[in-house]
Amino acid sequence: MITRTDPSCQTQNTVIRLDEVKSWQQLLSGSTLTLAELLQKLDISAADFANSIDGDPDTAALDFSIRAPAPFIERMVKGDINDPLLRQVLPLVKEHDITPGYTTDPLQEADFNSIPGLIHKYRSRALFIVTKACAIHCRYCFRRHFPYEDNQPSREMWSQALDYLEQHPDINEVIYSGGDPLASSNAQLNWLSQRIAKIPHIKTLRIHTRLPVVLPERIDSALLELLQQWPGKKVIVIHSNHANEIDDSVKDAIDKLKLTGATILNQTVLLKGINDSSSALVELSERLFDVGVLPYYLHLLDNVTGAAHFAIDDTEAKTIMAEVVARLPGYLVPRLVREEANKKSKTLILPRL
Ligand code: SF4
Repeated sequence: MITRTDPSCQTQNTVIRLDEVKSWQQLLSGSTLTLAELLQKLDISAADFANSIDGDPDTAALDFSIRAPAPFIERMVKGDINDPLLRQVLPLVKEHDITPGYTTDPLQEADFNSIPGLIHKYRSRALFIVTKACAIHCRYCFRRHFPYEDNQPSREMWSQALDYLEQHPDINEVIYSGGDPLASSNAQLNWLSQRIAKIPHIKTLRIHTRLPVVLPERIDSALLELLQQWPGKKVIVIHSNHANEIDDSVKDAIDKLKLTGATILNQTVLLKGINDSSSALVELSERLFDVGVLPYYLHLLDNVTGAAHFAIDDTEAKTIMAEVVARLPGYLVPRLVREEANKKSKTLILPRL
């Protein structure tokens, strides 16, 4: 056994087994769990899962597997079936409901996906599907049915997408999306970023990622160097839905990202049973501000098949937001928005003050 002394705990002479310290790649690949494994980690019985929240014990039939990385699971409260972090990853029987108005492609992204791996919906911005992988499977995800098999990332596919960028001088911002783009290797990200950097009209690189929150270990030195080398502006939009998601390890990751000169924003999805109260949203905004992140968007749920049980209607959302507005300074109030298929921008439900 190889051991080392943890420098942060020298006075207590704490010894950590090196073979217990997992790399982010190991944590990422170990994120897929069976339902039994997840419940066992949290000391929750299968009966409690099935009876008290109508959980779906038949996970063999799931088309969207259970995924949650260990550092995120560690922030859940043991024994609490209603923990707001846990509820984001637990499959319920209601996922099988057929709800009118809910579809597998609520934003009709297929209409804007003529080049594999690239979605060009908004005039000045193009979105790269960098990878189909995610560290976590959020049950409300609007891309849970996305045809990733037709958008399998490869350098050949990206070459086509890069040609498209070169031919469209109106595009000045590239958004890395997925999946979660930071689930890609640094080598892949570096290859892609270096090529995009050579296209003169691309001024801004934006990364939409949940990894700094659910697996902050991902923010390693090679990624930071890659970001540092990007010649233009960079924006990192993290995705956090609840204050309990943000601990000191997330703060460390954000601190490192900020040192690269990136602007860091957060987007949240308004979710029934997770964050549908003014106090939950106020606490989230305050916690984000504590770690140096500004709230950006609060999204109404996209009407994706299998997620209707998370929906909050517009009237209730506006009522909650009115209380949030009354309690927070304007710079901590996210914009309440809905994304609609075929609209040239998001629809503001409540503008930021
Ligand atoms: S991390 Fe983002 S892309 Fe991945 S499942 Fe969650 S919401 Fe969807």
